[in-house]
Amino acid sequence: MVSIPLKTDPGFLQKTITGLTDQIDLFETFQSLSLKIISQFNLEDIFSTFTSIVKEITHYKSAAIFMYDPSKDSYHLAWQSDSMAPEDQWAGLDDKIVSWVMSQGRWTVITDLQDKKANCIKSILPLKNPKHALGFMVILTEHTPSAYNRKIGSILEFVASQTAISIENQDLYSKINQSNAYMTDMLESISNGIIATDLSGCITKINKNATAILGIKGKKIIGRHFDTLVSGSLKKKLHEIFKAALGHNLLPEIMISYSPFKEVDIFLGITASLLADKTKETNGVIFSFRDMSASKEIERLTRLDEMKSEFVSNVSHELRTPLSIIKSYTEALITQVSPDDSDTRENFLSVIDSETDRLSGIVSNLLDLSRIESGKFALNYSMIDLVQLINSVVSTFKPKLGNIRIFTEFGENLPLINADSDKIKEVVINLVSNAARFSPMGGTIHIGLETQKGYMLCSVADTGIGIPEEAIPHIFDKFYRVDNSDTYEIEGTGLGLSIVRHILQMHKGKIQARSVLGKGSVFTFRLPL
Ligand code: ADP
Repeated sequence: MVSIPLKTDPGFLQKTITGLTDQIDLFETFQSLSLKIISQFNLEDIFSTFTSIVKEITHYKSAAIFMYDPSKDSYHLAWQSDSMAPEDQWAGLDDKIVSWVMSQGRWTVITDLQDKKANCIKSILPLKNPKHALGFMVILTEHTPSAYNRKIGSILEFVASQTAISIENQDLYSKINQSNAYMTDMLESISNGIIATDLSGCITKINKNATAILGIKGKKIIGRHFDTLVSGSLKKKLHEIFKAALGHNLLPEIMISYSPFKEVDIFLGITASLLADKTKETNGVIFSFRDMSASKEIERLTRLDEMKSEFVSNVSHELRTPLSIIKSYTEALITQVSPDDSDTRENFLSVIDSETDRLSGIVSNLLDLSRIESGKFALNYSMIDLVQLINSVVSTFKPKLGNIRIFTEFGENLPLINADSDKIKEVVINLVSNAARFSPMGGTIHIGLETQKGYMLCSVADTGIGIPEEAIPHIFDKFYRVDNSDTYEIEGTGLGLSIVRHILQMHKGKIQARSVLGKGSVFTFRLPL
């Protein structure tokens, strides 16, 4: 068996333990000093913590800190203790000494330690991080034997290096804060509404214009999902856009009309793009909202202007046609048709009669429009029988329909309704007249009447030329006409349906149109019972 001899020096173990304890103490001192310094976030606090630690270690009489200004390539006084006299700051220091000390990066005593007469020793403590020098501290301490030793030096150098790191961090923080403030200012100055979200759709940034355009209320917006801020069709649209953006799809600007507040309709242009972090990894989506209501309104007014010009030419044409027919038939009656030829006279007179009807229809539509626009369109309520009213319209139309057949179908025991008889008659005449005019190849017109859920429902269906799907939302707008010039040139003013809708709205009723191009159309209106 081999025995390992133990070291017999009795003081060895004790020395080792004391040495280790000293190391641990020193390490703990370093750790607590480091913590003290790096937990400061502004320059003033960093300086004050640093100087108070240095004071505790060196018991200095006075001290000053000089910081390097790269724009001037020189050091400037950044802090000094009250007791530091201005003439002491640079006394005994010159550029060469400073740059030598900075290059060494060590705490350096400048005063000759052997000079017993000097009552102060001056030292320089560089504030340096591993990469570059930020500045230095000038320390004046009493000339005592304990004023200088290597242990103090290493603690001071450690404290100075931690301070340098803290100063740099603080500089970094303030740069980040500045760039954050810059970003926020930029974001707020953009007229578009901007919302940035993370990958799950939760909001990370939003500017004031986004809250204004979308009518978002409440303060706690950051962190909420974007779909909790909007409703209805916009919510659905944003989900679609969000999904498409994450799928890296090319997104054109999407237009949607939205009502952030009651009775306010705005027209929004929405775009979205991906946000990426510095490794180019996608980390969110940014939405941009543009309020296009003003440009949309200009577009609408321009279109209205165009429609008005079209209307003037249509109306002139519409008036001239029946007038010239009436004129030529009247002339013929006077000069060419023999008083005995009663058949021809009757035929001519019925043409004049129907053209006069057409003329009076146009004139009454024009009068209605001007009354509606001046707010003088009043209703004269009485209890009316719609069956009777429809039958009377049908019987006036029947003789003029040519190869168009007309049918009616009424529900049983239909009640009377409270309405303006003349105006409702105008509605039915307009719808039947349109059904006939827009069936140039002949066909059938079907008028139905029934009650449904507190309403009287009347439908006028035809088998005419139909209406293109994209035109249906516009046919009730004043002056609007579908351009049929390449197929059938059917004349009109574009006023009838807008007056019809107005009359029904005044009765708290509604009208809807369904149509299949080339097959026919159905107009259904409802009036409250
Ligand atoms: P107008 O008939 O004088 O042009 P309206 O306001 O009555 O004006 O109708 C507007 C437009 O709606 C018409 O120009 C036509 O294009 C379309 N329209 C209305 N009724 C019908 C219908 N029954 N069939 C096909 N198109 C129709």
